Amino acid sequence: MDATLAAAARAAIGFMPDDEGLALHAAGLLGGAVGPLLEIGTYCGKSAVYLGAAARERNTVCFTVDHHRGSEENQAGWEHHDTRFVDPRTGRMDTLPWFRRTIEDAGLEDVVVAVIADSPTVARHWTTPLGLCFIDGGHALDVAMADYEAWAPKVAPGGVLVFHDVFEDPADGGQAPFEVWSRAAASGEFTPVSTTGSLRVLQRS
Ligand code: SAH
Ligand code: MG
Repeated sequence: MDATLAAAARAAIGFMPDDEGLALHAAGLLGGAVGPLLEIGTYCGKSAVYLGAAARERNTVCFTVDHHRGSEENQAGWEHHDTRFVDPRTGRMDTLPWFRRTIEDAGLEDVVVAVIADSPTVARHWTTPLGLCFIDGGHALDVAMADYEAWAPKVAPGGVLVFHDVFEDPADGGQAPFEVWSRAAASGEFTPVSTTGSLRVLQRS
């Protein structure tokens, strides 16, 4: 990965360790040869920098979908709440300005395309086959499963499906992404490509 972009990604706000980010970038290069990349769960744009760098190398783009109002676990009183992201006008979360800064600082405004919306709403109208779909939106089981069911069919043959925060051991984290990954892995439609920390990459046969 380009050193300047790797530094921008490392400096960005978020929960993705660098080794997982580099694995995501590698998945982006693989999928980017097949079609555009799409991420569910933008947050402040850290993972979008890894994917955007891959999109640029492959002459494609990365769409990133988020309503920017935070997941359940980002709301006040929850573990991953950060008061910097609260809009003082309304008291609601708004990570969109932080995303814009991240992508501006990384110089990726021409390749990372924000889609500001609820993921299932976008999926209902999305018809372009994807080279990569990265599922990292809401981590409640119903939400994560709905993302898988809505988006996985849009991954083109040879394209990749990537999951984040997959923990086999409940002591390490929530089980929903692991359950969703297990469903995908058992579907017979995908072959495992890599596992790096909690990031798992599958490729459509
Ligand atoms: N991929 C990011 C982290 C994403 S955090 C990174 O690694 O840097 C999860 C994000 O999913 C939050 O920003 C939240 O707003 C978003 N989200 C949760 N449910 C969603 C939904 N139904 N539609 C769109 N975005 C959603
Ligand atoms: Mg994540």
